[in-house]
Amino acid sequence: MKATLTANHRRLKELARKHGTPLLLVSRSVLRGQLERFRRGLPRVEPFYAVKANSHPEVIKVMVSGRASFDVASAAEMNLVLEAGAKPSQIIFANTVKPVEAIREAAKKGVTLFTFDSGYELDKLAEHAPGARVLVRIKVPNVGSIVELSLKFGVDPADATSLLIKAYKMGLRPAGLSFHVGSQCTRLENYIEALEVAAIIARDARLKQIPFEIVDIGGGFPIRHFDHEEDPFDRLAARLTQEIDRLFDRGVRIIAEPGRFLVGPAATLVMRVIGKAIRENKLWYFLDDGLYGSLSGQVFDHCKYQYRFLRGGPTQLSTLAGPTCDSFDIIARGEEIPELQTGDLVYVENIGAYSVASATTFNGMPTARVLMTP
Ligand SMILES: *Cc1c(COP(=O)(O)O)cnc(C)c1O
Repeated sequence: MKATLTANHRRLKELARKHGTPLLLVSRSVLRGQLERFRRGLPRVEPFYAVKANSHPEVIKVMVSGRASFDVASAAEMNLVLEAGAKPSQIIFANTVKPVEAIREAAKKGVTLFTFDSGYELDKLAEHAPGARVLVRIKVPNVGSIVELSLKFGVDPADATSLLIKAYKMGLRPAGLSFHVGSQCTRLENYIEALEVAAIIARDARLKQIPFEIVDIGGGFPIRHFDHEEDPFDRLAARLTQEIDRLFDRGVRIIAEPGRFLVGPAATLVMRVIGKAIRENKLWYFLDDGLYGSLSGQVFDHCKYQYRFLRGGPTQLSTLAGPTCDSFDIIARGEEIPELQTGDLVYVENIGAYSVASATTFNGMPTARVLMTP
C-alpha cells in the first residue's frame, strides 16, 4: 500500500514538474472503466453522457469510442459532440428550454430527440423542428440530492399525458418522458418514486393511444469523494435494475444521462502552494487554483473534496485559500494538514465533473491545464 502511494506521489510530482500546475489529469482508462461499470450495473439502460459535466474534447472522444450516446444542452455542446464523431441519432437535446436558433440548428443537423416541460416549448419545437420526437420532463422528488434540479424544471406528472397529446396534435412525435432526481443522489427512493410515476404515465399514455417508447431516467448517479465513504453505485444499480424490470416491459427503451458518474472519478487536480501566512495563530496556505477555477464545484455543485498532501507528519488546523484577490476564495477552513512549504503539491481525486467545466479566468488566473493520461 505504502509503496503504491509513493509511486503515485512520484508520478504526480513528475507530471507537475513537466506540465506545471494547476493540472487536471484525466485518465482515459478510468473513463472507459466507468462507462463499463455503468453498463454492467444497469444492463437495460443506455448511457447518454451529460456533456456539461466535462466538455473537454478528449473526454468526448473517449465516450464516442466507447459508443456512448450524449445529452447536450446547447448548440455548442451538440457541435462538439458531432465534431468528435457522434451520430445525430446518438444525441438527446435535454435542455427543456432552448433558444429557437438552437432548435433550428439541431433539426438541420439531424438531431431529432428533445425534452420539453411546457406548452410554449412545444410551439417552438413544432415550428422549428417539425416532426421531432419529444420527451416530457416531469417533476420528481429531489429529496436529499446534493444538487436540486426540480425547482426549475419539470411539469406536474398529472399534466404529462395531456402535453404528450398536445405534442401529437401539433405534428410532433411524443416518445415518452424524462426526469432528473437531482445530482449526486444517494437516496434510492428518489429514483424508485420517479420510476413509479413514470410507469403510471406510460400506462395512461398507452391507454390514450399515444406512443410511449422511451423512459429517460436522467443523471444523478453518485460517486465517492472521501476515503471513509462507501461507493454507493453498485447497490443503487442493482435495485434500479430490479425496479426497471418490474415496471417496464422490454418494449420500453430505458436511457439515462449520467455526467458525474462517468467523468468524476477519472480526474485528479494537482495544485501547488504558492504562499503561506499566519493569521490569528493559524497557518494559511495559498494554492494556485481555487473557487474561481477548478474548485468552482464547491460553489456551484455544492461539492466537498478530500484534500491530499505528499507530506506526512503531525497535522494542525489550517486554512486553504485560492489565488484570487477575493476573500470569498477560501477553499477549506479548519483542515487537519501536515505543515506544508511553498512549492508543495496539494491534490484532489474524483474531481472530473463540474470542475474545469465551470472554471473562470477571474483575475487573469488561467484555468487548470487538462492532461489526458492512459
Ligand atoms: C446535469 C444534468 C445531467 C447530469 O447529471 P449528473 O448528476 O452529473 O449525472 C443529466 N441530465 C440533465 C438534464 C442535467 O441537467
